[in-house]
Amino acid sequence: MVTRSNLLYSAAALRRMWGLVYRRLVEIKVRPWWRVVWVWVPGRRPCFVSQTAFKQHFVAWRRQAAKALRAVQWFNTPGRFTVHNDAKGSAYVVEVSDTEVRCTCEDYKNQVAAWGKGCCKHGYAVLSQLGFSTLGEYLDICHQRLQLLAQHHRQQLPVAA
Ligand SMILES: [Zn+2]
Repeated sequence: MVTRSNLLYSAAALRRMWGLVYRRLVEIKVRPWWRVVWVWVPGRRPCFVSQTAFKQHFVAWRRQAAKALRAVQWFNTPGRFTVHNDAKGSAYVVEVSDTEVRCTCEDYKNQVAAWGKGCCKHGYAVLSQLGFSTLGEYLDICHQRLQLLAQHHRQQLPVAA
């Protein structure tokens, strides 16, 4: 089962962070504890890694992976994109709105199940094409635009009937 904890503090994440790809078959133990993560790799002394490092890696890795993807905007639906992974031959549909960047992939579903929101590498590929580097930056702009629209709308209302 995917939980907040094993989505963020996983052995797979530690392998990528520490470049331990060659140790794929070796058992690595990763346990969140208090504000740190207890990490044990066979042949090394157990140590603690900050949870922040895992959180930063979570986003950085997806943003990096997004660079290899190709986002194609739908002809008749501007907020919808098909994101292709040409190396794998896979594709997912991403839909952007003022409040979220949804995707049809497993990673996105897992993040939503864990946190109620999320952004996968396909979402980052679309954001990058739209000129944004983070989800927060995109959502801030949407929020500002909505406020401006609301303001504009209020100004256009008749003062009193
Ligand atoms: Zn996705």
